[in-house]
Amino acid sequence: MDKTGLIRIRAEVQGIVQGVGFRPFVYQLAHRLNLAGFVQNTSFGIELEVQGLPNDVGAFFQALNQEAPPLAYISKVDTFPSTSNGEKEFIIRASSGLEARTALISPDVAVCQDCLDEMFDPADRRYLYPFINCTNCGPRYTIIKDIPYDRDKTSMQAFEMCPRCSAEYNDPSNRRFHAQPNACPVCGPQVTLLDAFGRPVPVDDPVAAARGILRRGRILAVKGLGGFHLAVDAVDSEAVRLLRQRKKREEKPLAVMAPDLRAISQFALITATQEKILTSIQRPIVLLEARRPSPLAPEVAPDNKYIGVMLPYTPLHHLLLQDFLALVMTSGNLSEEPIAIDNEEALQRLDGIADNYLVHNRDIYLRTDDSVVRAGASKVRQIRRSRGFVPAPIFLRRPLPSVLAMGGELKNTICLTKGDRAFLSQHIGDLENLQTLEFFDLTVKHLERILEIKPEVLACDLHPDYLSTKMAFSQNELEVIQVQHHHAHIVSALAEHHLDGPVIGLACDGTGYGEDGQIWGGELLVADSRSYDRRGHLDYAVLPGGAAAIKEPWRMAVSFLDQAFGHETAGLNLNFLADRREKVALLRQIIQKRLNSPLTSSLGRLFDGVAAMIGLRDDAAFEGQAAMMLEMCCPPGDFAPFNFDLAEIDGLLVIKFQALIRDIVQALYDGRSQTEISGRFHATVVRALSEAARKLSMETGLKTVVLSGGCFQNQILANGLAQTLSSAGLTVYTQDQVPVNDGGLSLGQAVCAGERLAR
Ligand SMILES: [Zn+2]
Ligand SMILES: [Zn+2]
Repeated sequence: MDKTGLIRIRAEVQGIVQGVGFRPFVYQLAHRLNLAGFVQNTSFGIELEVQGLPNDVGAFFQALNQEAPPLAYISKVDTFPSTSNGEKEFIIRASSGLEARTALISPDVAVCQDCLDEMFDPADRRYLYPFINCTNCGPRYTIIKDIPYDRDKTSMQAFEMCPRCSAEYNDPSNRRFHAQPNACPVCGPQVTLLDAFGRPVPVDDPVAAARGILRRGRILAVKGLGGFHLAVDAVDSEAVRLLRQRKKREEKPLAVMAPDLRAISQFALITATQEKILTSIQRPIVLLEARRPSPLAPEVAPDNKYIGVMLPYTPLHHLLLQDFLALVMTSGNLSEEPIAIDNEEALQRLDGIADNYLVHNRDIYLRTDDSVVRAGASKVRQIRRSRGFVPAPIFLRRPLPSVLAMGGELKNTICLTKGDRAFLSQHIGDLENLQTLEFFDLTVKHLERILEIKPEVLACDLHPDYLSTKMAFSQNELEVIQVQHHHAHIVSALAEHHLDGPVIGLACDGTGYGEDGQIWGGELLVADSRSYDRRGHLDYAVLPGGAAAIKEPWRMAVSFLDQAFGHETAGLNLNFLADRREKVALLRQIIQKRLNSPLTSSLGRLFDGVAAMIGLRDDAAFEGQAAMMLEMCCPPGDFAPFNFDLAEIDGLLVIKFQALIRDIVQALYDGRSQTEISGRFHATVVRALSEAARKLSMETGLKTVVLSGGCFQNQILANGLAQTLSSAGLTVYTQDQVPVNDGGLSLGQAVCAGERLAR
């Protein structure tokens, strides 16, 4: 403190602090507290100095954290004493030109209430303007071509600001100060309505005309934030059927967008946690329990207890949804291809699907699908982490060497690490067609550029045939570290919780390549971030015909029956067997001769098999469908488990389910309902896995259990295990920030490789 009683503090602020209105926020805060000094963008984030009375300076730093703008994320504030001087003003200093190099780029953000109020105000100059935005909202990640994040490095570079927009942009006290996508009807992007052949439809109000098209039951392709959606009126059965038929998406549930919470509550139940995430700035698709009966067309989510719902997140959505209860908003692609982003591309790829196109002339640089989450009583769990969350980093336990992890084969994401931050990409998809591979490549290059990461090593799965693995080995500049699939799942969870292990890891999913060449998927590991020891697994069963058994769960049912009943299988009096006697006989030969039939310890396949056995589903329209139906028919409440065995074979703990299968057949003979069998089945799996984990805990002294893998998307299983293990005195972790399914795999691969290198 000097003789005037003033102090001066310099501070370095790190996190997501650029392009999110942080400097105007600091400026206004400093003015409010009568502080002098400056704020500026630097290569690491924000640097500032404040000078004033000690109380005011104290209040400043308190408010810095508590009142930070909605898009900001402060990861660290370092403060240093400085010498006070005669300064009286607080200023925003011009950028040094070095900014943003290690600063974080904000994800895309839903339009804010201030902007919405303006958009619906007839007196406002942006009345009904679909590209209204400010420093607190709007596109970010999807329009950034390069860094630093400035207008000329975004797809807004094509639009020169008019004098009024420019004045807002340059006024530190304005909500649009340095809002890079700032625009108005005079100078900014515009929407156009196109017909099926891509010809502009001459109308005064393209959005109103688009609403008319939807009301007439037609299919509209809408250009959004991260790509095109295909939209139809969600109460119109015929329109939804037409969309499914043209998109070749027979059964997979379709997501809907509703104008507000009140509309949603007419067709779905909303808990407090769900409401919070629905209205969050990320605006993901949230899986909600559907009301029955529902005003929505049953074709939206056939046979499904849940419905994927989101609220509008762009101004255009808000305008489009007026007068609708809900619109189906599904990604603009043919099944399994990446979502279309470019106007020309959309016209080509959605040809024959869309009747009209609502396009605009603000380019999307990087496609980003909608995120999908599931929210229970208190926790939000990621199913697909994409728009709104990417590229916000996962902060790691400690800095690691830079790694590029290639992810898995299905639900692929990639992950890049830099220091103590891991950046997961948006959802890329299933790496099984050329378009998805190109998207993969583009995403890697784009993220390396905008995050300025030069990986020192590549990480990938152990599976030699995964395209992601092949790509890792297609170069010879960098070392490749292979990480076993289920180990990567567990490390992904460890990373999220800043744990290093060792822990007991339960990794349960559909498919993952095992060290013994078999297909693993029900694994008990003792694992840390670097290595693991396989201590047990679900008993191996034959996967008859390999991948065919994934698409046809009845094959798994026959496999499990054959294991439990041997030659008596043919004589069993079960409906699904009676429907296909000859096929079953043939399949049993395949099983016995092990023709093109690896072994699997997969819990996902057990779910599939049981679902088929009790008549829920013979074949699957999409992976995991049968397992999902088994979960959905499980009623709440406690059920007595069926029998099972825990054996020790060659030093490994093996969970055997022959007794369970025999019990299920008996229950079917006794005329027990599907719901009761499902309840008892779930109870059995919970009991078996928790007993195995407890046994392992006693043997090793480890008290922490980590759950990961796609099977733990099943809430009955995840919650049941967490409860049982906690009451046995063990600490249980699963994943919240990153999906437990293969979408989270790349994080585990990256951290495992990084930790191995760091040692
Ligand atoms: Zn706004
Ligand atoms: Zn303007």
